[in-house]
Amino acid sequence: MPSPLAHAVSGYVFAKFLPLTQPRTSRRRRWEILCLYPVFVATVADLDFIPQIITGKSFHRGLTHSLIFTLGFSLILAFILHNRWQFSYKQLAWITFILYGSHLVLDFFTEGRGIPLLYPFTENFFVSSITLFPGVHHSRGLWHYSHLIPISFELVYSVLLVWGVRWWRLVKANPRRNI
Ligand SMILES: [Zn+2]
Repeated sequence: MPSPLAHAVSGYVFAKFLPLTQPRTSRRRRWEILCLYPVFVATVADLDFIPQIITGKSFHRGLTHSLIFTLGFSLILAFILHNRWQFSYKQLAWITFILYGSHLVLDFFTEGRGIPLLYPFTENFFVSSITLFPGVHHSRGLWHYSHLIPISFELVYSVLLVWGVRWWRLVKANPRRNI
């Protein structure tokens, strides 16, 4: 799976393309909605490693990596937050679904056993035949040198993604300028 870095940066960048702010949103609220929320929603699926550490049982890449959980999580979180941020419930639920779904997409395109996308209807794991991200081998321990490969890859991915979006926004803001 990609590390939280790739998930967080992807969520942050995808949020730039979603209708996430109202015209009169305060600066603090904008930070909450445009940075904190997308990063949290795009990474939260991997918090399933916590029950795994506590119980010693295999939870990671389980239920939280399924479409049914994505839907339920999005509906509940949107219900809790839509009034606070003055969004329509439907709009925030869709946005949350897309941001959370970005996590599943990245994991789907990562080297490894894949994700239980259609759980509980089937316990099969799904993975793309095209690998975009090298996998992290957790069984080798936290500090194994082999982790440098996926981490370097993700650093390059993150820098390119952030740079690409900044460039695109500059071009959009100044269409006649050569940037
Ligand atoms: Zn994951």
